[in-house]
Amino acid sequence: MLEYVEKIKETARKLFEEGKVDVFIGYKKGSVPMMNQPVLISNADQVDLLYWDSNCGLNLCNYLTRRTDRIGIVANGCNSRNIVTHITENQISRDQLYIVGIPCKGMIDHRAVQRAVKQREILSIEEQGETFMVKGKDFEDTFNKSDYLQRNCSVCTHRNPVIFDEMVAPPVEEQIGVDAYKDVKEIEGMDPDKKWEFFTRIIENCIRCYACRNACPLCYCPTCFVDESKPQWVGKSSDPIDTMTFHILRAYHCAGRCTDCGACERACPVGIPVRQFTKKLNKDAKELFSWEAGLTLDQRPLLDVFRPDDYNDFIR
Ligand code: SF4
Ligand code: SF4
Ligand code: SF4
Repeated sequence: MLEYVEKIKETARKLFEEGKVDVFIGYKKGSVPMMNQPVLISNADQVDLLYWDSNCGLNLCNYLTRRTDRIGIVANGCNSRNIVTHITENQISRDQLYIVGIPCKGMIDHRAVQRAVKQREILSIEEQGETFMVKGKDFEDTFNKSDYLQRNCSVCTHRNPVIFDEMVAPPVEEQIGVDAYKDVKEIEGMDPDKKWEFFTRIIENCIRCYACRNACPLCYCPTCFVDESKPQWVGKSSDPIDTMTFHILRAYHCAGRCTDCGACERACPVGIPVRQFTKKLNKDAKELFSWEAGLTLDQRPLLDVFRPDDYNDFIR
């Protein structure tokens, strides 16, 4: 994906020179390997900051909410779906946006790479087509990217942007025949006690830092329910029930809206698989309502429509 970088820079430069945008939102190379950072630039002199490779795991739509200026933004499949969600939820207008579409082949799971090098310090990472090389003080290893994709990317079926103004390259082949919900089906097969035990176990190390919430572009309420103190909806301690309440309510906020971009999971400092909560809701949305979030501007989001003649008996 490195070949995209020059095209992104060229497009951003042109947009500024033609006066079409006030700001351009993309990624810059991270100060540590495998951690590229979102960047907002405001003129053509800054375009050389822009970068793209398979370490752009954070979701840029966080920076769109309620902006009033004209914005250029890079968007791969999942980011473009969150842009659609932002537009349909009236957080931004389509007219304000110039979307530079990125055909995506997935992001690298930095934790899996870290495990593979036995937690030694990685000083650099370099992509070479379908492989990448990591280097440390006294080691050097090359890996196949397909073996080290983020969990959400390995089952992603919308790698190409769903809306864009121009693309940096031709579309990539979409993955077909993947079972995105194998893990959810296993959990569905558990009895209620086992389910509770499963979810209790996966959040037992949660430190309530809210990085998962902050990384998610769907969490844009001016005051989050966990921060509200009058009334206080949920306790602020690390009591396991408070922690579970946070996770369940956060997931329900994302019902019918989550694009499985993986930003929440990537941001978690203690590696909690928080997508296990949202994935069940994504599966239900797909199976019960034929709905996947953010695929089109032509339909209202799942939870803000009601049809008296709905084809599902359980709704009427
Ligand atoms: S979820 Fe899909 S579009 Fe998003 S980063 Fe992964 S592969 Fe790319
Ligand atoms: S809940 Fe997680 S996976 Fe879903 S949209 Fe938010 S950050 Fe992305
Ligand atoms: S980012 Fe991780 S540790 Fe922080 S609140 Fe979310 S799940 Fe808990």
